[in-house]
Amino acid sequence: MTAAAAKTATSPSTETAYERPMHYDVGEWTSYLNSELPENVEEAMTDHLDGCPACCKLLSRAADNDEAFVTIFGRPAGPPSLLMPPTVESLVDRLVSMVLGPRVEGDASDTAQLVLGRRIICGAEWPMEPELHSVVARFLNRMKRTLFSGRVRGRVFASTEPPARPASQGASGEACEIAILLDAPAYDRQDLQLWDAQPGQIVLLLGLREDWERAGFTCDFTLPIAPPELVATREAERDALLEAYVDQDVSIRAAILSTAAGCDLPRRFFGPLTSNLPAPFLPIQRPSRTADVWCSIRSGWLAYRAILDALQDERLKLLVRADLEVLLSRLKEHFPTCAFRDRFQMRWLKRFGQVWSGSLGMQD
Ligand SMILES: [Zn+2]
Repeated sequence: MTAAAAKTATSPSTETAYERPMHYDVGEWTSYLNSELPENVEEAMTDHLDGCPACCKLLSRAADNDEAFVTIFGRPAGPPSLLMPPTVESLVDRLVSMVLGPRVEGDASDTAQLVLGRRIICGAEWPMEPELHSVVARFLNRMKRTLFSGRVRGRVFASTEPPARPASQGASGEACEIAILLDAPAYDRQDLQLWDAQPGQIVLLLGLREDWERAGFTCDFTLPIAPPELVATREAERDALLEAYVDQDVSIRAAILSTAAGCDLPRRFFGPLTSNLPAPFLPIQRPSRTADVWCSIRSGWLAYRAILDALQDERLKLLVRADLEVLLSRLKEHFPTCAFRDRFQMRWLKRFGQVWSGSLGMQD
């Protein structure tokens, strides 16, 4: 079932001519990452990046400094270097084109039709998860600028039941036209029916492609895999993480093993909620940015690559084996039900099965 709504597609009072400076500074790149700039300025900056390595560097420095960007949808995100900004923008364009219908016949203005009643399953390879969040965050921001409303729900591993889908209409301030659910394939297929396509709303379900496949869904929108040369520029970070892993105390090492398998951790894994998180862990925030009880690290896939390296070294492999046992016993403390541990085991074997030998000892 398809309904349609019409709104103007241009943001108000942002159409003044914009003169581009020679270069932009870190502050401007920070605003760019936070989508705080008028659309025409943002477009000019994206174009500029295409031909300016100096500004690309500044952008990634801004991403390093900027808390808001670090926590896209509440989750730690890496610097945006795996996809160049023009690629991100073209992905945002593609997503927008999936939710906008054809222009109204005979209407030369910028009137856009939102094709309501659609559900879009969005997937990414596991190293690309922060990029998927980044693309969808920019998509949502663009839709909000054209006066459509949107809400984001869900937190990774926070619950075994999906959060309620916001209503498509009604007096409640929660009602919205675009509803987004994070880490959607984590939920039971039947429970996920709560998030089926609804008249009057567009539903975006986000998850890793491998998780979608396992759950029997096909993705409508997927991210391309990062070009190998961009991945290579991150190898130094991976080396640093491997070094950090070897030098840390056992509970941090165990936690790094969890993120290497793509599993976030409850914050209390490190002790009482009031304590600060040890580096390199960062809180995962709720949309309201309060009471974060989960944590992870930036670019968790680099932890995966670091641990993959560790498993090639016989001495480090023994360390990983001992740390895994610590992690598993801690997970038993924190997760009385085995759903989380099953998922951890599945992910661990999927990522490290080829180089890992031996049982994970997950049986209760
Ligand atoms: Zn520049």
